[in-house]
Amino acid sequence: MKTVGIIGGGQLGMMLAEEIHNLGAKAVCLDPNPKCSASFVCDDIVVSKYDDIEGLKKLGDMSDVITYEFENVPSKQLKFLLDTYNIPQGIQPLFDSQNRIREKENAKKHGLKTPMFMAINSMDDLLKGINEIGLPCLYKTTTMGYDGHGQVLIKTLNDVEKVKPFLDGEGILEEFIKYDFETSVIMVRSKEKTIVFPMGINKHKKGILDEVFVDKQLAVFEKIKNDAIHFMESAGYFGILCIEIFVKGNDYFFNEMAPRPHNSGHYTIEGCTTNQYRELARFLLNIPLEEPKLKSPTVMKNILGFDYENMKKLENSDIVHIHDYFKSEVREKRKMAHITFTNTTQDEYIEKYKKLFCED
Ligand code: AMP
Repeated sequence: MKTVGIIGGGQLGMMLAEEIHNLGAKAVCLDPNPKCSASFVCDDIVVSKYDDIEGLKKLGDMSDVITYEFENVPSKQLKFLLDTYNIPQGIQPLFDSQNRIREKENAKKHGLKTPMFMAINSMDDLLKGINEIGLPCLYKTTTMGYDGHGQVLIKTLNDVEKVKPFLDGEGILEEFIKYDFETSVIMVRSKEKTIVFPMGINKHKKGILDEVFVDKQLAVFEKIKNDAIHFMESAGYFGILCIEIFVKGNDYFFNEMAPRPHNSGHYTIEGCTTNQYRELARFLLNIPLEEPKLKSPTVMKNILGFDYENMKKLENSDIVHIHDYFKSEVREKRKMAHITFTNTTQDEYIEKYKKLFCED
């Protein structure tokens, strides 16, 4: 029986481990928290920091194949893993996604449209950047930023003051896109083919993904899917890749990518004929991939912090599918669980369910 080693033991690792089991293989995760979400599903856990070579070695020795659900493994450790163990996805997509400038340059090089952007290393760069890109624009730190952390919206020149605390590190200045909505493309690529999941509309609250609505496949989605497949193949990536996109009219702009299962793809578990975790598991276990299809209009609601209590007003049914991540402590913005509503349109969700949850 094959064993898949997963670097990271969060909810993504937990749901991946469930599918690895469904395909008849074992799952081991590495995480500093012995009570992490994936520990309740995995066959074994290596309790270790993500950058600890000894821990990574232990995971590697227990596994036939390694993957990651956590993005910030440092390059030195990644290189060691690649040289020593079987990582079918490689480390290139992870490396490319770890720096926002590298990430956007790479996206552009392989045919994706990006917002205008410039590297920022000083106040001089920032003022030049603002002059070139125009206002409003957005400053972001190039590394370790997620869910809106390390970002400053520059509406007027007075706002440059807010960037000052970040200027000792590297940053990126981006054109501010007044988009209609956000979406994401999730793809899995094997040597034989590339599959793409149906796309939806992603709604964020305070910079964190809140809801995903998957219903009609819009014309602009086809264009994005084609460009995304071209990008993945041209960049030479394998395994899973999620690309986050801003849509404006018939146009789109690449925002960022993640070479791991993605929060916006949770809906695929019940909403599609096959899901992002199963297809990644198939790729890792060398099983042919299956093209996914949407089964019904589907809505995914992320349960953060205090909505965890509100979630208990609902029960599992043919329509309501509750995924609890079994986290030991509720914290305000912590991802605690998610709910997928199948056979439910956006309007039906708003009418029946939205009021059960916190407004802001
Ligand atoms: P990120 O950390 O890059 O995913 O950004 C977090 C959120 O900030 C995104 O979900 C968007 O809502 C917003 N955002 C990021 N970049 C831009 C941009 N260039 N233009 C407009 N909004 C943006």
